[in-house]
Amino acid sequence: MSSNANDWHGRAKTMSFDGRAVIDGRRTAAHEGETFDCVSPIDGRVLTTVARGRTPDIDAAVASARRAFDDGRWAHKSPAQRKRVLQRFSEKILAAKEELALLETLDMGKPVQYSLSVDVPSCARTIAWYAEAVDKVYDEIAPAPRSALALITREPMGVIGVVVPWNYPMIMAAWKLGPALAAGNSVVLKPSEKSPLTALRLAEIAIEAGLPEGVFNVVPGYGHEAGEALALHMDVDAIGFTGSTRVGRKMLEYAGRSNLKRVYNELGGKSAFIVFDDFADVPRAARTVAGSMFFNQGESCNAPSRVFVHERIADEFVQIVSDEAPKYQPGDPLSGSAEMGAIVDGTQMNTVLGYIGAGRDEGARLVAGGRQVREDSGGFFVEPTVFDGVSNAMRIAREEIFGPVLSVIRFKTEEEAVRLANDSPYGLQASVWSHQIDRAHRVARALRAGTVHVNQYDEDDITVPFGGYKQSGNGRDKSLHAFDKVTELKTTWIRIDS
Ligand code: NAD
Repeated sequence: MSSNANDWHGRAKTMSFDGRAVIDGRRTAAHEGETFDCVSPIDGRVLTTVARGRTPDIDAAVASARRAFDDGRWAHKSPAQRKRVLQRFSEKILAAKEELALLETLDMGKPVQYSLSVDVPSCARTIAWYAEAVDKVYDEIAPAPRSALALITREPMGVIGVVVPWNYPMIMAAWKLGPALAAGNSVVLKPSEKSPLTALRLAEIAIEAGLPEGVFNVVPGYGHEAGEALALHMDVDAIGFTGSTRVGRKMLEYAGRSNLKRVYNELGGKSAFIVFDDFADVPRAARTVAGSMFFNQGESCNAPSRVFVHERIADEFVQIVSDEAPKYQPGDPLSGSAEMGAIVDGTQMNTVLGYIGAGRDEGARLVAGGRQVREDSGGFFVEPTVFDGVSNAMRIAREEIFGPVLSVIRFKTEEEAVRLANDSPYGLQASVWSHQIDRAHRVARALRAGTVHVNQYDEDDITVPFGGYKQSGNGRDKSLHAFDKVTELKTTWIRIDS
């Protein structure tokens, strides 16, 4: 790589890519050598070709993972030994931070300084946190009768299939890998076909760190091919899925059609952000919503895309958000200073533009953005966009857009705000802004969401669970609760004669 730390374009030119799968500890071309193009959304150039995994590749990866699990090369290591390997894995991720950050940015379009300051460190910290946790989690002895001893122990489940999206490829992978590997499982990961490159590098780095071969396999490919084959596989014990609600539904069907594997779904969102007129600092609320909504090009499952504002402060709020929006105007993701990057691909960009058209057609008032920009770059860029005068019945308020489009809905009463906020198939996150302590608690309790923020939206940490109510999924990523998804509870009764 170039020695000039800020010359990301120079580094990109000399970067080499390897799109082959990682199966049984080795780089492997797909069965029959099929590939697909990996296109950068920054400029539309083909970065490399990627192995197009299908059933035979998934079969090979699952067989490798099963062998590794059954012979105990990882599962039978003590928690302290697994900890040390995973700590090295985390350290090596950080040591490769510039390479991984650049790969992530070229592959999915986010500004490189955020890949470097957010995605890579968060991925490394997640692996390290589960490494450090695993030899501090104790099993239980039940309060059984004197004639017996009842042990309640956690055992690794076996082979965990992981299917993740493209919006935070490394972070989503790490949320699944951390607890699964720390608990002693083997993993087969299917990254999104839109962003496979960092997952493949992570598998190599894990092996360099001492993870035994076969414990962590990565098979790239399309969802309806590699993803479906993994989710239907009879020898996969659980699926950790992050992605759309549409595909989450299929995951449940695949389990029903195969071996009833456990399915843990982390799905879409349409998070409500409620600002009451007793909240004095309207500019802070407005700046927060803009920052959270437009971060990562609006491609965040928990983006606060439905803002409910009390009618008395709505004009001021909308004015500030519209003034803030241009500060997130998309720029060159490799410049090191762009606040917003490229939408992941042309299909997703057209989906976003389609929703902007639907908002106009349904009578919402466009107050900022709304257009494709930087077309000369060959990449896919959309302006930060704000609609006022939205009703909760419009498509832009009901459906997840997964792009930089914010809908502002005005309300009159607390009861109305809560009712509208909960009137959604989703329940991932929510936020309430009020200085009245009883109102803040009352509304936080009433909101049907996995996480509720009060007077802020940015707080986040690996120590707390992340996941949704309703059609935003089940199970929880992050925190010690994530071990529940990758372990089985076993009860062992031991007779004690007196
Ligand atoms: P997606 O559902 O289209 O794809 C996700 C993954 O599933 C990809 O790897 C894809 O290849 C695979 N897939 C697609 N069809 C499949 C099939 N038929 N069988 C098996 N696998 C299949 O989602 P996306 O567009 O990649 O990501 C965006 C979605 O992810 C949004 O809905 C977003 O809210 C959600 N998301 C949720 C969370 C969370 O923690 N709740 C976090 C990030 C993203």
